[in-house]
Amino acid sequence: MRAAVVRENSDGHVDFKDDFELRPIKANEAKVKVEYSGLCHTDIHVASGDFGEVPGRVLGHEGIGIVEEIGEDVTSLKVGDRVSIAWFFAGCGHCEYCVTGNETLCRNVENAGYNVDGAMAEYCIVKADYAVKVPEGLDPVEASSITCAGVTTYKALKVGETKPGQWVAIYGAGGLGNLAIQYAKNVFKAKVIAVDINDEKLESAKKIGADLVVNSGKVDSGEWIQEKVGGAHVAVVTAVNPAAFNQAVGCVRANGNVVCVGLPNGAIDLPIVKTVLDGIKVKGSLVGTRQDLAEAFQFGADGLVKPIVKTRPLSDLNDMIDEMLDGKIEGRMVVDFSL
Ligand SMILES: [Zn+2]
Ligand SMILES: [Zn+2]
Repeated sequence: MRAAVVRENSDGHVDFKDDFELRPIKANEAKVKVEYSGLCHTDIHVASGDFGEVPGRVLGHEGIGIVEEIGEDVTSLKVGDRVSIAWFFAGCGHCEYCVTGNETLCRNVENAGYNVDGAMAEYCIVKADYAVKVPEGLDPVEASSITCAGVTTYKALKVGETKPGQWVAIYGAGGLGNLAIQYAKNVFKAKVIAVDINDEKLESAKKIGADLVVNSGKVDSGEWIQEKVGGAHVAVVTAVNPAAFNQAVGCVRANGNVVCVGLPNGAIDLPIVKTVLDGIKVKGSLVGTRQDLAEAFQFGADGLVKPIVKTRPLSDLNDMIDEMLDGKIEGRMVVDFSL
C-alpha cells in the first residue's frame, strides 16, 4: 500500500513508499481504510525529530476511515463503521490518569504517527476501543480536522471553564484558532475576541463570528482587551509565538483562566503580583479524550462548527509541509486518498 513515512535523516519531510506492508491485525484491533488524513504542525515536529527521531514511521493523526476488518474480541466496532485515527491513539487503560478522565496524560500513551504508525497511508491499524466513531451527518473531510484541531480547541475551552456570555480571547486565528472561535461562539455561547498579527486572518475571524478583533502586532492586546471589555474571562492561546502567551496573561480579568495550547519553545513571563492578587490560573491543555472527541464531532454534525478544509493527493504532502511552514495555509490541508 502507499504510505508517507518519516525520512532517515528526519529533515522535516517524508518519503513515499508504494509497497509499505501492513502487519496482520491482532485481537482488539481493527484495520481501517483511510479516506482522509489532515496535515498538522505536529506532523512536521515528528518528521523533524523534535520529539525524538522515528525514521520509517507512517505520519498522520488527523485520520478518518472505514473499518474493513476487525480482530478477535472486538465488540465496540463493526465492519463499515467510520472512525477516527487521532494523536491520542491509546492509553494504558489502568493508570491514575486513564481512570480519572485524564487519559491523554497517560505516561504510556501511544500517539498515531509518532510512536505507532499513523493515517498518512491507505490503511491503518487502530485499537478498537480507542477509535472514536464519526457520527452520521458529519462530512468525513471535516471530521478529519475535528479529530485534532477541533477537539484540541473544544477541550481548551472546557479547561478554561468557559461560561455562556463570558468574554473569551482566542490568540491565533489560524487553523486552530478558527475552530476555537466557532466552538467558543456557537457551542459555549461566549463572546469572542480574536487576536492575531495578520489582518486577513482577523477579517475571516469576523466572518465566522468573532465579536471583536485586535491586531497584536500593532497594539498590546492585553491592555486593549482590559480597556475594551474589562478583561477576558478566558484566554486560549493557539499561537506559535511566545509573546502571545505573555499578552494573554495580561488580557485576563481577576479569576481568569489562561489556557495554553500552542507549542513554541520558550517561557511565559508570569507576573507574580498579578497571579496572586488577581487569582489568575495558567493551564496547559493537550488534545482531548475519546469522550471530548465524540462531543466535538457531534457539534460538527449538528452544524455548529464547520472546519475550513482543502483536499490534496498524498503525493503533494511535501509541498503541503512547505506551504504550512511558510504560513500560506488557511484552515486545514487534508490528503484525500481517492485522489
Ligand atoms: Zn494535529
Ligand atoms: Zn494510562
